[in-house]
Amino acid sequence: MSGEVFTGVFTQQEPIPDAGIEAAIRVMRTGRLHRYNTVAGEVDETARLEEEFAAFVGAKYCVAVASGGYALGAALRAVGVQAGDTVLTNAFTLAPVPGAIAALGAEPVFVGVTQGLVIDLADLVEKTRTSGARVLMLSHMRGHICDMDALMALADRLRLTVIEDCAHTMGAAWKGTPSGRHGRIGCYSTQTYKHMNSGEGGLLVTDDAEAAARAIMLSGSYMLYPKHRAAPAPEVFEAIKYHTPNVSGRMDNLRAAILRPQLADLPAQCARWNALYRALEEGLRGGAGLTLIERPEAEAYVASSFQFLLLDWAPAKIESLVAACLARGVELKWFGAPEPVAFTSRYDSWRYVAPQSLPDSDRILQAIMDMRLPLTFSTQDCAQIARIITEELRNAAAK
Ligand SMILES: *Cc1c(COP(=O)(O)O)cnc(C)c1O
Repeated sequence: MSGEVFTGVFTQQEPIPDAGIEAAIRVMRTGRLHRYNTVAGEVDETARLEEEFAAFVGAKYCVAVASGGYALGAALRAVGVQAGDTVLTNAFTLAPVPGAIAALGAEPVFVGVTQGLVIDLADLVEKTRTSGARVLMLSHMRGHICDMDALMALADRLRLTVIEDCAHTMGAAWKGTPSGRHGRIGCYSTQTYKHMNSGEGGLLVTDDAEAAARAIMLSGSYMLYPKHRAAPAPEVFEAIKYHTPNVSGRMDNLRAAILRPQLADLPAQCARWNALYRALEEGLRGGAGLTLIERPEAEAYVASSFQFLLLDWAPAKIESLVAACLARGVELKWFGAPEPVAFTSRYDSWRYVAPQSLPDSDRILQAIMDMRLPLTFSTQDCAQIARIITEELRNAAAK
C-alpha cells in the first residue's frame, strides 16, 4: 500500500462563533440560565431563539427543548400517541428515532428504504395497511428528502399524521418548502454533530396550536407558558393544561445564546457544506463498483455527510475497503455491518422492537457507505478524500 494519506479529523467541528461565546458569557454573568428566570421586561434568549427559528422555517410555533430525541418524543405525545400504538418509521435511520417511539411504550414498524436512500412509498402503503398505524415518524436520514408532494398526498389518503425528524435537514427544503414544514410537526437537533451546535438541544415547530401548547407543557413550562413568544394564545393552554404531563426537557438560556448567532449564519454554512459535498461527488464519480446517490432537483439539501453504495459487494470485501481507507486516514462508516458500531446501526440491532424482515431494504442497507463532512474540511480535502477512495476502490476491484 502506498500513496497520500489524509490527516483531517472527521469529527472536528468549527468553534462556536465569537458572537455566541460573548452572548453565552453575558447569560452566565446574569446567573439567569433557566429560561423562565427573567427580570421585569426581559425577554430570555430561549424565547428569542424560538421566535427566530419559527421565522426561519415559516412556522407559527416553536419550542426549544433538551435534545432532538426529546423533540421526537414530545411530538409523538403531542399528537396523541399512546402506549401500545404502532408508529411507522424508516428502517434506515439512527437509534434515537425508534428509541423515541419505544420510550412511549409504542411499537415501531419499519418502512423500507429505496436506492435513493429515502422512504419506500410502496412499502409505506403496505405497512400502513398491515399495521393500522395512524402516525408516521418520517426520518430524513442523512439529509435525503423523499418526494414530499407524493408522500403528503399519500399521508392524506391513508389518514396518517406525519412527524418529521429533521435532525439532518435543518436548513434544507423540498420545492422551496423548508424541511419540517410538510408534516404536522417538525423536529430538529442542535447536538454537536448536526447543523447548529449547542452540545445538546432540540427544536420543535408546528402550525397546530394545540400540539404546540401540549409540547410546551410537556417540555416543563409549569404555568409559566405566557413567557413563550412563538406560542399559541393562553386559551389554547386552558384546554389542555390539566391533562398534559410535565416531562421535563427544557432548553436553557446558555444554549439558546450559543445558537442564535449560528442560526443567523446557517444559510451560509449550508452553502459551505454543499460545496464540500460537490467536491467529493465530483471526485468519486465513475469510481469502480460504486453507485452515487443522484439528488432530485426539487431537493435543496444540506450535505453535512456523504453516502454512496457498494451494491452487492461481499461483506469481507467491504470490510477490507474500509480498513484500507482508514489506513490512509479516510473514515468510512458501513451501515451494513452486522454489529452496531459508533453511531451506525441496522434496524435488526434494535432488539427491543419486534423482529421485522425487509429483504429489499437489506440489500440497500448492506451497501451504504457513510462519511461525515465537517466544515473544518476544505474542498481540497474533499478532493483528496475522493482520490484515496477511488484508488482503494480500484485496488479492491483488481483483487
Ligand atoms: C441525532 C439524531 C436524532 C436525535 O438528536 P439528539 O439531539 O442527539 O437527541 C434524531 N434523529 C436522527 C436521524 C439523528 O441523527
